[in-house]
Amino acid sequence: MDNRPINADRLWADLMDLADITEPGRPWTRRAFSALYLTGRDLIANRMRAAGLTVRLDTAGNLIGRKEGRRTGLGTLVIGSHSDTVPEGGRFDGILGVAAGLEVARVLQERAIELDHALEIYDCLAEEVSPYGLSCVGSRAVAGTLTDAMLARTNDTGETLQAGIDRMGGDSTRLTDAKRTNIAAFLELHIEQGPVLEDETLEIGVVTAISGVTRVLIEVTGRPDHAGTTPMASRADALVAGAELVLAVRRRAESQSARGLGHFVATVGEARVIPNAANVVPQFMSLLLDIRSEVRADLTAFLAALEGDVAAIATHHVGVTAVLKPVSDNPPAPSDPQLMADFRHAADELGLKQRDLASGAGHDMAWFAHIAPSAMIFVPCLGGRSHCPEEWADRDAVAKGTDVLFETLLRADRRLAQTTPSE
Ligand SMILES: [Zn+2]
Repeated sequence: MDNRPINADRLWADLMDLADITEPGRPWTRRAFSALYLTGRDLIANRMRAAGLTVRLDTAGNLIGRKEGRRTGLGTLVIGSHSDTVPEGGRFDGILGVAAGLEVARVLQERAIELDHALEIYDCLAEEVSPYGLSCVGSRAVAGTLTDAMLARTNDTGETLQAGIDRMGGDSTRLTDAKRTNIAAFLELHIEQGPVLEDETLEIGVVTAISGVTRVLIEVTGRPDHAGTTPMASRADALVAGAELVLAVRRRAESQSARGLGHFVATVGEARVIPNAANVVPQFMSLLLDIRSEVRADLTAFLAALEGDVAAIATHHVGVTAVLKPVSDNPPAPSDPQLMADFRHAADELGLKQRDLASGAGHDMAWFAHIAPSAMIFVPCLGGRSHCPEEWADRDAVAKGTDVLFETLLRADRRLAQTTPSE
């Protein structure tokens, strides 16, 4: 790989220099909306300028470096990800995608390569769940889906997200200016954050879709009684019925993931019991389900089967009723098939071992996919670990991913320029 244009040492230096900008004693923490985050962005902005990019902040607080293209009117190719971390998070999640964009821009400059399209590198504001409880703040704004209700959310000091965006250098009075309509393609490189590529000793994962995330609440209602005096046969125990539903979710999810059309997982990650007291037969239980589906039909089939289980509770447990309530629903964001093909060809040309896989985690790409052809690739990370200080990706692995990103950018630039007539 020595003759590759991507400079692995230079890329690695960006990653490690950004890692150094962390809360001391709490590595690796650089949360969006913090002073450290702005320090990190200063470093990125300076390196963008050194790579010949024109740097700006959009009104939503996205940091953008731009290089003009040879032709006008073709739209913009965007490489993007995020430089914020979760608390005690990693050095690669998101940061890799921004650093890879930087390195790509440096190679273009170094080799005097002119693209037909303009190129922009996006460091999207606050991809991780922010102190205001919202994730993907910047990329939602790009897609035009930041609502007033979202902007009114507050952090624990009472500051609104709207004020936070302004504090990060945005202009919340003109947020719609951040919405884009002229992006020709969006590309993202990210660590996998799961074990598939490492387990199969593969170098590149071409993402088929960002799974949809659907949350539903199951509420189980029984009757509170004395735990010492109520005979077993006379109880309407909401927790016992709820426990059956937890197992039903598990069973249904296993079968749906085995025979479904794509990536499918469902988790009961949150449960509440009322009154939650040792000497009272539980009166009420709620279960919050997180369901991730690559293909909408899998979600529909799963929910239909689960509805049946929920309805059947009343017949198995006298005096207990259960209902299923929708909470939130974000549909899957499929990758653009042509950009996926560009990624596959680039990886093949570079002799890298690859496979397709769905993303179970959310990414900025999901929001860009609302407004532009979008796709992303994964590189393996150690043990599939992420959102923890141990998160690690090898120098060689991230360089190979950046090689593929670079080659794909050139391919997409040529392909999209051919299909778009000159002005
Ligand atoms: Zn990320």
